Amino acid sequence: MTTLSKEAIVEVLAKIVPPERLVTGGPALNEASIDRFRKYESICGVWTQPIPAAIVYAESTEEIQKVLQFANENKINVVPRNGASATEGGLETTAENSIVLDGSFMKKIIKIDPVNMQATCQCGVSLQELDDQCRAMGLTTGHSPQSKPLAQMGGLVATRSIGQFSTLYGGIEDMLVGLEAVFPNGHVARIKNVPRRAAGPDIRHVVMGNEGTLCYITEVTVKLFPYFPENNEFMGYVLDSMKLGFEILREVMAAGYKPSIARLYDPEDGAYHFSHFSNNRCVLIFMAEGPKPIARATAGAIKEIVARHPECEAVDPMYIQRWFEQLNWDPAKVAEERREIAQTQNIGHTTEVSIVWSEIADLYEAVMKRVRAEVPDLTMLGGHSSHSYINGTNIYFMYYYNLVDIKPEEEISKYHIPIKRIIVEETLKRGGSMCHHHGVGKHRAPWIKEEHGSAYYILETLKKAFDPNGIMNKGSIFPTR
Ligand SMILES: Cc1cc2nc3c(=O)[nH]c(=O)nc-3n(C[C@H](O)[C@H](O)[C@H](O)COP(=O)(O)OP(=O)(O)OC[C@H]3O[C@@H](n4cnc5c(N)ncnc54)[C@H](O)[C@@H]3O)c2cc1C
Repeated sequence: MTTLSKEAIVEVLAKIVPPERLVTGGPALNEASIDRFRKYESICGVWTQPIPAAIVYAESTEEIQKVLQFANENKINVVPRNGASATEGGLETTAENSIVLDGSFMKKIIKIDPVNMQATCQCGVSLQELDDQCRAMGLTTGHSPQSKPLAQMGGLVATRSIGQFSTLYGGIEDMLVGLEAVFPNGHVARIKNVPRRAAGPDIRHVVMGNEGTLCYITEVTVKLFPYFPENNEFMGYVLDSMKLGFEILREVMAAGYKPSIARLYDPEDGAYHFSHFSNNRCVLIFMAEGPKPIARATAGAIKEIVARHPECEAVDPMYIQRWFEQLNWDPAKVAEERREIAQTQNIGHTTEVSIVWSEIADLYEAVMKRVRAEVPDLTMLGGHSSHSYINGTNIYFMYYYNLVDIKPEEEISKYHIPIKRIIVEETLKRGGSMCHHHGVGKHRAPWIKEEHGSAYYILETLKKAFDPNGIMNKGSIFPTR
């Protein structure tokens, strides 16, 4: 990577942005070397990654272009950043004297277009802000990840994010219409906004999910949908078997229904959210939404499908509605979590994967068995399926452990990575995907070749073509030797 000193890098950056948008020291620079994957290290004030040379808060595509061109010419590692809610090490600055290129000042909503049902905004617009403005007009993006108050549009596209209403609206790949992105050589590519086209491969998919390893996303256009919260119908059930729960989810999806939420919690994960009624049982949840006739018909059909399984016991839908209203994470909830971890030395993480229906129950059982057998000091191990498709579903494992006799920097190697490894290995072994929606980051990169098999050729060739100097987010998606 670069032979330039920090001082030489900062000198050039200071000619691109004014001093108030250039951070070259202090706690913010330390924080910029990591993301949530290393939250315990940051709570303890231990910094194990190279501290970046600077954070640049860009305000325009031109500034992004200048920074990338400078970095490309001098082989400086650039870590793109938006809402900083990444969980897989995507924001870790693995090379000395990296530049963290932050787009969160690019927060202009360019157009909300109720005729063509699409909204265009800069990369730093928070999803919460965009969706609130759309909802005030009777519209919605349909995108609702739990990080909605934290994440920004550039990051949401860069990670192939998905929201809680995905069964109806899909993931970001179903919402994204067009975009603007800047490549390391300074080329600005604009992908236009059309309903569909067959003009060669879909190039949106080269940019979407690139996690800052190929280009910087500066602007996005997403679809809009009519918003009818008054028609929402919630349904909740308790049952004893995850296997049966998966089968009911499959029946609903295979029959062609599109509830906005279709979820199944195992007893431990369920107790985390629904201890007031779950009584150590699994919890199955649905929500139907949209125009009234559709919401009613969807809810009616789901109730009929569940009724075929007398093992399921209905619960008051108010419980489900209340749970749903407090699901999202805002900065206050993040701060509270950090305080709790500091006090209790008990910490939790998640890993989410996907697989076809015929393998899901087996995968769930295998992971639960192995993690319990192989990882010490667990205080909670559970999982839920939260995004279902006609051919399969995801499973989102949650795990908490007490940190026993370790230094902060050992948390990852003693607990987090061994658990993640078991989940990834068991998933890949059964033909599933090791990563459903949090991105690969640095910590699932070791398995990326196994994930893609012979198709890794396509991914690797994109990297060589668009980032020949390897300056974009070193170590993310593409493993370093
Ligand atoms: C509490 C919590 C709940 C979450 N829930 C969900 C969920 O329900 N669904 C879900 O999908 N994810 C979820 N996530 C993960 C995370 O919020 C998403 O990955 C989100 O898309 C990241 O957006 P961001 O703006 O915070 O991006 P950042 O964290 O800033 O960056 C994420 C990655 O994208 C790259 N990147 C960022 N901006 C750009 C850009 N403009 N151009 C190119 N690359 C860029 C970064 O380098 C990094 O690799 C959750 C995270 C937290 C902390």
